[in-house]
Amino acid sequence: MNSIRSSLDQFMKNKDWRRRYEELREEVLSYPKIQTFQQEHPEVTEEAMENNMMKLFEYKRERQNCDTCPGLENCPNMMQGYQPELYSDTGQLTVRYHPCRLKQQADEQKRQQSLIQSMHIPKEILEASFDDVEQDHASRLSASNACLKFAFEANPGEDATGLYLHGKFGVGKTYMIGAIANELVARDISSMIVYAPDFFREMKQALSDGTVQEKMDEVKNAEVLMLDDIGAETTSAWIRDDVLGVILQYRLMQKLPTVYTSNYDYDELENHLAYSQKGGIEELKAKRIMERVKHLTVPVFVDGKNRREM
Ligand code: ADP
Ligand code: MG
Repeated sequence: MNSIRSSLDQFMKNKDWRRRYEELREEVLSYPKIQTFQQEHPEVTEEAMENNMMKLFEYKRERQNCDTCPGLENCPNMMQGYQPELYSDTGQLTVRYHPCRLKQQADEQKRQQSLIQSMHIPKEILEASFDDVEQDHASRLSASNACLKFAFEANPGEDATGLYLHGKFGVGKTYMIGAIANELVARDISSMIVYAPDFFREMKQALSDGTVQEKMDEVKNAEVLMLDDIGAETTSAWIRDDVLGVILQYRLMQKLPTVYTSNYDYDELENHLAYSQKGGIEELKAKRIMERVKHLTVPVFVDGKNRREM
């Protein structure tokens, strides 16, 4: 009697298991990315699919997390920031894991940050968003529209046109470039925010440790370069002509956009660049740099109250 009972139990369990397996199989085979894979790889047989049902289930579970990505820090995948991909190796089905777009960007940023110390981004700027840019002022509205337009249309490699955000201290210029950087991430465009005074100081130091070229290359090649607070540094002829001038010339050739923030407008910055530490006045050289800056940026005046005094 007992043995019949246990066989029956076994049978019921089995039936339950079968039913669950069928459900799971249905779920797996109706997942759109798996269907697309099957269409693109007719050489992967039904049998191969059946034999790899658990692998496919795992693929679907992880890949679905990516479909509703909650950001790298909250990534629920088994290996944070890794995304599964299906492959057909001459009809054999395999699943491989790759770092996702966000993970690649974060790794790239870490690599750059270890090289360029002045590439520092305060946390509040990291979270900056156009949703929080107050439109309390007509000029602020047009400033944030110009920034949004750039964030939506920037096309590194094809068009070098950037922005020149100028206005008084504390009106939110740096905040706005943070918001641009965050919008660009959504378009898969990387940007590098460099605090200009620190960057120029760092470049001077790099002269003694031989890393000038390496650092220059990194900044020259940023998809979108943001030079924050240009004009707040003490200039030297070397910084102006051999650092800034060389970077701008290269970016012009490669059609890579540069965004500036400054307390100075174009004319004031030109004036600032003309006076080097050593007391010489080199108006022509300053003019040459500024012509490049003007030619490659849309000027954006940012007005408003000083938020640092609020
Ligand atoms: P600027 O670069 O023009 O000197 P900041 O961008 O540094 O000004 O802004 C000054 C302060 O105001 C910063 O602490 C910044 O985080 C804050 N801030 C600027 N714009 C906003 C905003 N839209 N929402 C919240 N905080 C802001
Ligand atoms: Mg600033």
